[in-house]
Amino acid sequence: MKILQLNIAIIALIVGATGQVQAATFDDGLPTQPILINALEGQTEYPIVFVGEPPTTLTQSEVNSALRQAVQTWNNVSCSTATLTFDGVRDSMADVAANETAVMFVDPDADPCFPEQDGLIAWTSFVCSDLENVAVLLNATDYTWAPDPAPDSNLTGLTIVDFPAVVTHEIGHVIGLSHTEEDRLATMAASYLIDGGQVSLAADDKLNLCARYPGETNECESNCADGRECITRDDFSVCEEQRGGYGDYCAISADICPTACLITGDAQTGYCSLACEDDAACGDDSECNENGLCQYREVLPDDDGCSSTPVGPASLVWLVLLAIRRRRDR
Ligand SMILES: [Zn+2]
Repeated sequence: MKILQLNIAIIALIVGATGQVQAATFDDGLPTQPILINALEGQTEYPIVFVGEPPTTLTQSEVNSALRQAVQTWNNVSCSTATLTFDGVRDSMADVAANETAVMFVDPDADPCFPEQDGLIAWTSFVCSDLENVAVLLNATDYTWAPDPAPDSNLTGLTIVDFPAVVTHEIGHVIGLSHTEEDRLATMAASYLIDGGQVSLAADDKLNLCARYPGETNECESNCADGRECITRDDFSVCEEQRGGYGDYCAISADICPTACLITGDAQTGYCSLACEDDAACGDDSECNENGLCQYREVLPDDDGCSSTPVGPASLVWLVLLAIRRRRDR
């Protein structure tokens, strides 16, 4: 009995520790560097290149495709005049032109331009004596880089980060945006969200971009598809992305789910669930729990290397959330 209790304690610790990783910041501290914003004054064109080798968990073609997509995502904001291009892969910094932004994986302990701060996923360097170019430095040591947000990473591999979402955020810094405090789900929010949803821009991201590179188009006039909300600020109107699908990030303070937010661990963050009657309604990697909600099958290793299903230390929390949701629906 004593051993069983010890196992549960260890599992609770694992869940607690991973909860902190869920709230990992991309690159804390950037907004306090006003020099970077001034340095870009008047610039509207941003050529971006990848330098060196990707980590073993990503292929070069996955890297290229994510960078092409990230560039396109920022270009697609119709009220902005900023123009980004992905100009390919270079072997080393010697092959990078002065106006190009270099994206590369580094060992943060060995890189003089990466801040000495634990847990940073990435850093956009504007002013560093060892690096003349603007550069996006990606932490290759403390994180495993994935080409997409695998559903499993919602629960287990919380040091796995979604490469497309992270580069979309960092490229936001490259073009002069700082962190936003207006929307916790925005691409430019300081915290990395486990669902990879920051690969799509929130209305707040688009509005900040358009304030910096003002064009004339009103995005909502063309179309906001599928009931997406049109958000207006100052001279600009943009369409808000829809969030809250199964597996999307949510939190006690970001209650965006139409059905319920399943809190995982004690970090007050989790993912949106769906109502279900049986496992078949939830998909291969999920099951219908006793409360009629889909949840991912969770397997964490215990201290002797065997797999076990952990207890839900915060199951009360999400029951409370569910009750709140039902009351609101009435
Ligand atoms: Zn950032």
